Amino acid sequence: MNADLHCHSVVSDGTLTPEALAARAKANAVELWALTDHDEVSGQERALAAAKAQGLPYLTGTEISVTFAHQTVHIVGLGFDPHNTALKNGLHKTRGGRSDRAQEMADGLAKVGILNAYQGALQYVGNPELISRTHFARHLVESGVCNDTSEVFRKYLTEGKPGFVPHRWARLQEAVQWITDAGGVAVIAHPARYGFTPNEEYALFSEFKAHGGRGVEVVTGSHSSQEALRYADMAIEFELAASRGSDFHSPDESRIDLGGLPLLPGQLTPVWSLLTDRIQ
Ligand code: AMP
Ligand code: MN
Ligand code: MN
Ligand code: MN
Repeated sequence: MNADLHCHSVVSDGTLTPEALAARAKANAVELWALTDHDEVSGQERALAAAKAQGLPYLTGTEISVTFAHQTVHIVGLGFDPHNTALKNGLHKTRGGRSDRAQEMADGLAKVGILNAYQGALQYVGNPELISRTHFARHLVESGVCNDTSEVFRKYLTEGKPGFVPHRWARLQEAVQWITDAGGVAVIAHPARYGFTPNEEYALFSEFKAHGGRGVEVVTGSHSSQEALRYADMAIEFELAASRGSDFHSPDESRIDLGGLPLLPGQLTPVWSLLTDRIQ
């Protein structure tokens, strides 16, 4: 099935509205869709209404920022109740501190001669509680400092670079519990992106499972075909269901369009088979 269970709107760091994403998903033959804004569920009602208007089956979604083994890991939640109070409070807490962090990022950039980056990044922010590195990257491209967003991340926004500010996000256990207690399924997002040692990765997968996590992204816009095969094996080894999502952010920036990924390898349990009663 052409399920696309990972993408971003203007509610976090995407450039399209939930309505435009629903139309794009439909036009690209997506058969099951989820909008997964970072640390936010305030776009869920719009996404569901837009999906319904397109005749597109929908699962609620979010992507929670977690700190694990001194790294940022993303946990996708699918099929939860978006009105659940503990989940909403947890996401609110996770969003907190982004403004202060962004000010510190701008201070770091000012030291290398890039002035007023905070004000610049704010121009691209759709949700004031969700200023992210992506908004700084767009500003530095538009103002001619770099040619594209990946150059901005490489030179300025990753560990050790002038605009990088370490941040403590949610704990793995909290994120998994918020999602599962709200009736959803927790999924490890794009595992190949983290650069963990084999021991750290084993710890991530085992602790995630122990806390009640049930899925892992296998086919994603962030994985090569070799990485997809590797995490297909990991899904089988850890008895996790497999998810599939483009991680689409913008027509100008994203390598993979909504609905543009290869299918999941056949021997895996698709995560949506755990969520048939949650599809709207
Ligand atoms: P933040 O939550 O503020 O740390 O921002 C993280 C976001 O930055 C991710 O969700 C991606 O959208 C984006 N991102 C991270 N690394 C890169 C990269 N190397 N190139 C482009 N975008 C990136
Ligand atoms: Mn993002
Ligand atoms: Mn992510
Ligand atoms: Mn994402």
